[in-house]
Parts: sequence; structure tokens; C-alpha cells
Amino acid sequence: MECDRCDAEAVMHAAYSGAHLCEDHLGASIEKRVRRRVRRDELIPREASPENPQTWVIGLSGGKDSVVLTHILHDTFEEDPRIELVGLTIHEGIEGYRDKSLDACVELTDELGIRHEVATYDEEFGVRMDDVVEDDPENMAACAYCGVFRRDVLSRYAEDLGADLLLTGHNLDDEAQTALMNFLEGDVAQVAKHFDASLGPLPEREDQDDFVARAKPLRDVPEKEVALYAHVNDLPAHITECPHASEAYRGEIQQVLYDLEERHPGTRHSIMAGYDELAGIAAERYGDDGGVELTECPQCGSTTSVTGDRCRKCTLLDALA
Ligand code: SF4
Ligand SMILES: [Zn+2]
Ligand SMILES: [Zn+2]
Repeated sequence: MECDRCDAEAVMHAAYSGAHLCEDHLGASIEKRVRRRVRRDELIPREASPENPQTWVIGLSGGKDSVVLTHILHDTFEEDPRIELVGLTIHEGIEGYRDKSLDACVELTDELGIRHEVATYDEEFGVRMDDVVEDDPENMAACAYCGVFRRDVLSRYAEDLGADLLLTGHNLDDEAQTALMNFLEGDVAQVAKHFDASLGPLPEREDQDDFVARAKPLRDVPEKEVALYAHVNDLPAHITECPHASEAYRGEIQQVLYDLEERHPGTRHSIMAGYDELAGIAAERYGDDGGVELTECPQCGSTTSVTGDRCRKCTLLDALA
């Protein structure tokens, strides 16, 4: 099959749009969607200038999504003195998994010449996820511990690096799954929070003073296309899944979405179009009452929603000690 835009052979057919695209035109189309998202979400504030550059910290895991995001943002802003990119990789202490993806991160940032920081749970907290899973003092899934530690590392590093924005590689499939999960759980407050945390255009979000704003510029691109982009551009991406991955419910939702998309191409896009709008309405409706009271953890000083007690991270670390 030929590309719709040139004579080259098509490497993909997008059922949701009917497009057949060759390597080059698929790449161009993905890059265009990422740049459009950066514009629509108004991620570059007016006051950004060469004298007052914005620091964008990319959560770089070494998987295809964050690698592709880093590659495209670098291409886009390489010549733009208003934006400085920093890659941040978190090593959770998972044998045989994160070491390989860390290699991919180092290779990529070396090649692109962008600053790269590595944070490890071991150095930050004196724990490794492999041991946490063994101990499991709270009888929880691995990801429940890991997520608490990750949030803590991200917010501290973002502050230390003077980050204006924290960018992650969530793709269309990830976001459609989250949207559907929030619906099915009936959690409208969570939908409102999603808008303020990362979905809404930056200027429209409810004040998030205590947290660095987040953005997901890949969220219009289906997972399969992200993978194809990594492949045709020969990017150093590590594919294996984390051995402790345990979000079973998300896996079920993923399967439902695959099936729906197969029979009704465009489902993910329409879910997100409706969800974006509803999330905006929910955020407006919830306004401040959606937000929880924030205080300082008496043990580590970090911002917490647990009133009158230590933050979740400190509680978990004590249980693990
Ligand atoms: S899958 Fe779970 S345990 Fe593994 S890195 Fe991600 S959050 Fe951590
Ligand atoms: Zn083409
Ligand atoms: Zn604490």
C-alpha cells in the first residue's frame, strides 16, 4: 500500500482516520500533533524569553513513550532559547529492569546533548523496590508504594531543578484508559483533579501552587504509533515491562478499549474529546472544594494532604524500616 502523501510504501494504516502513511509522513504527522498539543495547552507562557527561559523536566523512564517525547521536544526546541530541557530518570531498585532502561536514557541524552539527572530510591530513601515487594508491610500492590515514592522524588527534584513544567510521555491509550477508569469508578472529583493536574490549558487550571504543573504532549498519539516512531527512528527504547507491574484493573480496561477500537475505530479519540470537555466543567464546578487542605509533614517537611500527621511517604518508610 502506498503512502497517501507520497510514493513511498506505507508503514501504517490508521483505521480511525483512514490514513496510510510512510515512515517520513508518519513521523511528521506525530510531530505535528505534539506541537499542536503544546500550543493548545499553552505550555509556553508569554513571559518566557531567552533571558527568562523555562525549565522543562521530562520524566524519562527509558520506555518508548518518554524516549519519543524527549526526541520530539528536543527537535522542536533545540534552537529555541526560551526552553531548556532536562531528562530525569528514577531508578526504583528493580533488578534487571531499570538498569537496561537507564542505559537507554543515558544513550539518548548523550546523543541529543541534553542534561540528564538520575534519582534512586536507594539514595533518596534507603529502599529498593525489590526489597519493598519482599517485605510488603502494608499488604499492598508494588505500584502503591512505588507511586508514593515516585511522587516525592519528582516534586523534590522538580523544585531543585527549578522546573516550570514536568512533562510525561502518556499517550492516547494511557489517557483514554484513565478517563474510562475515572468514569467507571464514578469519581468526578478525580476527573476535576485530572483537569487541574495535566489536562487543561495551563492558564485555565486551578491554582496548583504547591506542585509543579504537568503536561502530556503525547496524549493525542496512539500507543502503536509511538512504538512505530521509536522503531523507524531507531531510538534507544527499552521495551520490557516492570516485573512488579500489578494494575490489574487498568489491564482489563485496556483490553476493553482494544476491542472497542477494533470494532469502532476512533473510540479513544471520542472518549478523550468528551472527557476533556467534561473534565473542564467538573473542574469549574468543584473549584476549590475539590482541592484538599494541604499541610506540611512534621517529619520531612513535604507538602501533604494528610492533616495533622506525617505524609504517606514517611508512614511507609517507617513501616519498611
Ligand atoms: S510498574 Fe509499579 S512497581 Fe513497576 S515501576 Fe511502575 S509503579 Fe513501580
Ligand atoms: Zn509519505
Ligand atoms: Zn513526610
